Amino acid sequence: MKILVVNCGSSSLKYQVFEMTTKEVLAKGLVERIGLTGSSLSHRREGRDKTEISGDVPNHTAAVRIMIDALLHPEYGVVRSLDEIDAVGHRVVHGGPRAVQSMLVTDEVKEIIHECFSFAPLHNPANLAGINACEQLMPATPQVAVFDTSFHQTMPPEAYIYGIPYELYENYGIRRYGFHGTSHKFITLRAAAFLGCEPADLKLISCHLGNGSSLAAVRHGQCVDTSMGLTPLEGLVMGTRSGNMDPSIVSYIIEKANIPEAQVNDYLNKKSGVLGISGVSSDFRDLEEAAAGGNKRAQLALDIFAYNVKKFIGAYAAAMDGVDAIAFTAGLGENSAAMRGQICAGLEFLGARLDKARNGAVRSREALISSDDSTCKILVVPTNEELMIAMDTHEIISA
Ligand code: ADP
Repeated sequence: MKILVVNCGSSSLKYQVFEMTTKEVLAKGLVERIGLTGSSLSHRREGRDKTEISGDVPNHTAAVRIMIDALLHPEYGVVRSLDEIDAVGHRVVHGGPRAVQSMLVTDEVKEIIHECFSFAPLHNPANLAGINACEQLMPATPQVAVFDTSFHQTMPPEAYIYGIPYELYENYGIRRYGFHGTSHKFITLRAAAFLGCEPADLKLISCHLGNGSSLAAVRHGQCVDTSMGLTPLEGLVMGTRSGNMDPSIVSYIIEKANIPEAQVNDYLNKKSGVLGISGVSSDFRDLEEAAAGGNKRAQLALDIFAYNVKKFIGAYAAAMDGVDAIAFTAGLGENSAAMRGQICAGLEFLGARLDKARNGAVRSREALISSDDSTCKILVVPTNEELMIAMDTHEIISA
């Protein structure tokens, strides 16, 4: 069975084709600059060189068409006919309260995606455009929507209701939704498999640390809390996002720092976080290098980030009445032994003891990095959101 996974952004389309019997990637690609000049497709069939194709890609339908042409190509394609693709799984950023799981696309599901446009104005319209384009050009193939928010829909109200008038929740749906759900779900499944147990046996803290970062408290396989909120701005200090702060800072900086109201959102999403603190970069590799060279603000940004993650780990251990495992994933979590070490320093009171040598030796592979006497296991688990989308899609069309 072959599943095509599609992730549409406003000007890009990423795709991967999976053979589900082996979970192998057969081909992957990226269409860039949709609707702009100089559009191109970079496509790679597994085991072959990349193929670069430039062309006119005025909209998402054209992007899907150029992807299909590449997948069918006699030389670098991977199928002879579209019938060989059993389903398409689409990443959808926001599913709101009604998307409690991945769903076969119907008119009602499209309505759900549309209802959430205002929560995710940059992503949901593009996600829906991708679905419509695939429906149009692959009318016989089932389409499945996999939402970044749905894994978090098991949170209890005390975790998702904000301390603001309840009518704002009732009338506008203002509540915590959480993101990176596809990644946190994948980490939950892989961490349990790695430890030789079921997700139902675990109290797990999943730490997705990349450009965007979030933590999820997963008790017995179900998410009970997560750090991102109505939008991905809440929670940890991130690459360029502020994370948690006093909300009155917004009106204060409009008034005192002359930041135009219309730019505040951009300011907090794109110019803040470790980039804003350090003035150096949002990339943690640059920050580690600058800090090693004596840059104090780069060091401060790293310290703040590590402190933030550690504080959430403590909070989530309390939320679950304990923690059996902590898993690190995404670009920073998978690769930076230094950051993992800094976050875990002092967590021994939770029974979490990092093994320095094990931690130092791990990059981007599944591994235990806690010591043998650590009652809370610490793991590195590379995430694979595309595979998780393919697995959900496979499950839905097989049901
Ligand atoms: P995104 O949220 O864009 O998917 P990623 O999960 O790819 O992000 O993570 C990107 C972040 O991971 C960047 O800040 C990058 O600096 C960091 N990162 C990747 N490799 C390393 C490394 N070896 N050491 C430190 N940080 C790393």
